[in-house]
Amino acid sequence: MSAFARFADARKIPAVATQRVLARTTGSLYATGALLILIATLFGSGWEGIDVAAIRVLAVAAIVLGVAVFLVGHRIPRPAYHLLVAGGPIVITAFVHLGQGTVWSLAFVIGYVFTILDASFFFSPPGVLVHLCLVVCCAIVGMVSVHLPVGAIVSMPGTFIVVAVVVTWLAWMADAAEEDSLTRLPNRRAFDRRLEEELGRVGREHGQLALVLLDLDHFKDVNDHSGHLAGDRLLLECAQAWRGSVGESHLLSRYGGDEFALLLPGSSLGRAADLADRLRSVAPDGVTLSAGVAASAPGDSASMFLSRADVALYEAKSAGRDQTVVYGDPARGASELEAAITAGELVLHYQPVVRLRDGAVTGAEALVRWQHPRKGLVPPSDFVPQAERTGAIHALGMWTLDQACEATARLRDDTTVSVNVSVPELRNPGYPELVRHVLDMHGLPPQRLALEITEAVFDNGDPQVVATLNKLRALGARIAIDDFGTGYSSLRWLERFPIDIVKIDASFVRAISAEREREPVLEAVMAIGRSMGMTVVAEGVETRYQADVLRRLGCDLAQGYLFGRPVPRQR
Ligand code: C2E
Ligand code: MG
Ligand code: MG
Repeated sequence: MSAFARFADARKIPAVATQRVLARTTGSLYATGALLILIATLFGSGWEGIDVAAIRVLAVAAIVLGVAVFLVGHRIPRPAYHLLVAGGPIVITAFVHLGQGTVWSLAFVIGYVFTILDASFFFSPPGVLVHLCLVVCCAIVGMVSVHLPVGAIVSMPGTFIVVAVVVTWLAWMADAAEEDSLTRLPNRRAFDRRLEEELGRVGREHGQLALVLLDLDHFKDVNDHSGHLAGDRLLLECAQAWRGSVGESHLLSRYGGDEFALLLPGSSLGRAADLADRLRSVAPDGVTLSAGVAASAPGDSASMFLSRADVALYEAKSAGRDQTVVYGDPARGASELEAAITAGELVLHYQPVVRLRDGAVTGAEALVRWQHPRKGLVPPSDFVPQAERTGAIHALGMWTLDQACEATARLRDDTTVSVNVSVPELRNPGYPELVRHVLDMHGLPPQRLALEITEAVFDNGDPQVVATLNKLRALGARIAIDDFGTGYSSLRWLERFPIDIVKIDASFVRAISAEREREPVLEAVMAIGRSMGMTVVAEGVETRYQADVLRRLGCDLAQGYLFGRPVPRQR
């Protein structure tokens, strides 16, 4: 956009015109101008024949108005400022008139400059023009009504016009400081200012306000491998691709580095998330983005609001990037994974479980992976925690259980299958019934199923979780405590929870050292399991030496790369 076109852009309100600055400036111009006049009536001379009382009353009224605007003006809607600023020349005209054409009338004429300053700084160019016309009209009416010299009547409006042009130009120059020089989008400063303003407006009008943070995935790699120029080009292409997709009332800004922020007044969470998806989809080829979406809440400060969008963005990143996460809206975050299940993108890998005594394979653990169309094979650590938060874990858990039971039932032997279960699934009172249904459907004897839970179940001793586990056990399935020894281990909990199998965490196995004669920690953990009548399984066994030590210590079963990595189909 050319400089002139930008200058004439009718919607463009100067960046300095925040609600608070408007209030402070307008308020102090009213108050100080009127105060000076009041002081002049008290100590000045030349008031003979002038209605000083009327001037004082008018001055006091203007001071009161000015102080009120100064203090609470930031709550006044922006359009009301046109009335307040327009009130200025009218009040000044009254003073000029009351001055009866004396030197005081001329002195009051200077007050018109105040209102021109105010209007030029705070309104768009067409607005400035309207106010300038009003000031010129008022000034002429005021000066003519008291018969001021023709020279003054002619020269004053000229001065006003020069002041208006110069100040509007200065405001435009200041505006340029709020623009990102690369993308020409508003920069962070502009965004923060508008955010404050919109939050104030939402507070007054109880409307909606949504915020989207967009972050380029792996942008650092682009900068590192292709250079900063390529990085800059990418940012510019994103800005250009998005410019046409955002509405007039929206504010798209370059918030910093590779992060863009989009402010959506009047928009719901759903609409904001849809727009975020649309912007991600029109991004330049080969670029993926993560987006975090949040809606403003009553009493929000800018930083609270931003931090919620930031949390959502973080979740989008940690759940594997290239997605939109809505803060506090589980259903949306869940949908991508649920769609992946429906599309058949999840796969189960099976890792053999062997008996240490004789090396026989007694079963397998089912471990889920996401065969993502673009990202390749995604490990469970990249999407299971997110699924637990969003609620998608219920669909994921059911799919895993169903697949694992079906595959195991087809192996016409007595090997077992272990399925990992998350705490939210166990909080569902209907879960045991679902498990029973799946077992019946595939004709898998419950004894062949082990459900693995982590020590997170001990977190608050939720009675619902204990009840679910008891029901599962009553069905005939076995319960294994996974990664034992890493989390909330407490012997008291072990007694309270119905557990059949302890899986000693791989970290204990890794700690096995040939330099030690004994492994006291491992021995103790194993002793606890055995004394409670549980089967002990060692995880992460990678070397023959580790397997030998474990066998010597009386460990029943083991899993690990030594015996087999997780692979697609159960053998
Ligand atoms: P886990 O249940 O403790 O699974 C063992 C993890 O250790 C697996 O990682 C496995 O691939 C890895 N592993 C096995 N043997 C060795 C070894 O010898 N050395 C090393 N370094 N690692 C070994 P994976 O597949 O990435 O799974 C990670 C976790 O994700 C699992 O830990 C489990 O807690 C969770 N998970 C996997 N599938 C599901 C599922 O269907 N539902 C739920 N809720 N969680 C799942
Ligand atoms: Mg496990
Ligand atoms: Mg484990």
